[in-house]
Amino acid sequence: MSGDEFDIISQHFTRQPVAREDVLLGVGDDAALLLVPAGAELVVCMDTLVAGVHFSADTPAAAIGHKALAVNLSDLAAMGAEPAWATLALTLPEYHPVWLADFARGFFALADHYHVQLVGGDTTHGPLTVTVQTHGFIRNGKALRRTGAQPGDRIYVTGTLGDAGLALQLRTAANEGLRKRLDYPQPRIEAGLALRKHASAVIDVSDGLLADLGHLLEGDDLGARIDIDALPHSQAFLEAIEQPGPGARPAKYELPLSAGDDYELCFTVPPPQCAEVEQRLGGLACGCTAIGVIEQVPGIRCHYRDGRDYQPVSRGYLHFVDE
Ligand code: ADP
Ligand code: MG
Repeated sequence: MSGDEFDIISQHFTRQPVAREDVLLGVGDDAALLLVPAGAELVVCMDTLVAGVHFSADTPAAAIGHKALAVNLSDLAAMGAEPAWATLALTLPEYHPVWLADFARGFFALADHYHVQLVGGDTTHGPLTVTVQTHGFIRNGKALRRTGAQPGDRIYVTGTLGDAGLALQLRTAANEGLRKRLDYPQPRIEAGLALRKHASAVIDVSDGLLADLGHLLEGDDLGARIDIDALPHSQAFLEAIEQPGPGARPAKYELPLSAGDDYELCFTVPPPQCAEVEQRLGGLACGCTAIGVIEQVPGIRCHYRDGRDYQPVSRGYLHFVDE
């Protein structure tokens, strides 16, 4: 390790707001030593953000720090897990202390909020790339999976859809609310915890609703019917698409169906559990909205509220495929 890398770790990633009792050894030794509570399973996930692919060059460093952790916590949320630890692999093109301080501020503000401790990582020289791994706990056998939905189960999403996609489309013209949704996604940890014992299947929406709901359905060879007039929009989204210009109407449906990066949860609930789920999630800031129903016949069928069919134009973000 070079002097620069040592400085980076000691100055930016050693002191941190959270000190958990289940961390026997954190940043500083060859590896971390961690205690998993008795009766719990360890839930582990990882995501990489590459400059120019997952975020643009003008994204504030604090937003990159926040988002790198947030997209991971979103995966823990989708499992119903309680977050505990994180590791961080940082590849940096240059040593830029102000950038690093901002990045660390964004990362640790979110880590602090969910009582997550950074327990290790790696620091290397190269094109800007941020990889975060998070670790959480779930009681034995209680994890929420993508499989498990049944025909007749209601389909819900938390929060609102299409905001991040519209921010990407409008770029610098995006309003503050949309910009915030793209740069500072909020992992739906509390919703994931509230869904344990109630949801039959859960996935987080990172690549677009149709794509991610498709993953939820494919494991059980099921289908779905979606009421596109039920898709939840934010005020910021509605204000932005009211601006005159081509594409406003299709955007109202297409972005919530197909745009990625919202990091909401999409989940299914057996009808007898729906009232309780709506009450529990209704008490959270994000809330939840029923958007459709699971069906036996594979495929996703979209319809307007009045029953007419709707044919989506695009079906979500496909990695390695030119759209
Ligand atoms: P080693 O050479 O033994 O692999 P390193 O010199 O890479 O160890 O790292 C020294 C310590 O600093 C380790 O505890 C490692 O987990 C931690 N570390 C390195 N980079 C980071 C980072 N970006 N964030 C948090 N911890 C880091
Ligand atoms: Mg070592």
